[in-house]
Amino acid sequence: MSNECLFCKIIGGDLPSEIVYRDDQVTAFRDINPVAPTHILIVPNKHIASTNELSPEDETTIGHLFTTAKNLATQEGIAQSGYRLIINTGPDAGQIIFHLHLHLLGGQRMRHPMG
Ligand code: AMP
Ligand code: ZN
Repeated sequence: MSNECLFCKIIGGDLPSEIVYRDDQVTAFRDINPVAPTHILIVPNKHIASTNELSPEDETTIGHLFTTAKNLATQEGIAQSGYRLIINTGPDAGQIIFHLHLHLLGGQRMRHPMG
């Protein structure tokens, strides 16, 4: 938990958001500025700033991020049409929130190239 972190505040219920799933390891909520019909952020409940701060003890939680993404894709009806999972790390990738998050994007044919 970081007092200054926006996503820790969402996880802790101190900042409103549209939460679509939560359990003891992860929380998922809709992106405030969606770039696709489905745009959900899935975050570890533990404050981890980015993939650069990962340690071996986080491996179970990070695996659970992906299982949760798959389950939410099914729930959103985009599992078969397809979706993109993105994690941005650092300035070149455009990371603006330094609490590790997995973007789940879908519901349209992706227009953006990868690079
Ligand atoms: P990134 O560039 O990977 O750090 O992405 C951060 C994402 O967080 C962006 O897509 C923002 O739109 C989103 N975001 C910022 N503030 C909030 C918020 N209060 N609730 C939901 N999503 C947010
Ligand atoms: Zn945080």
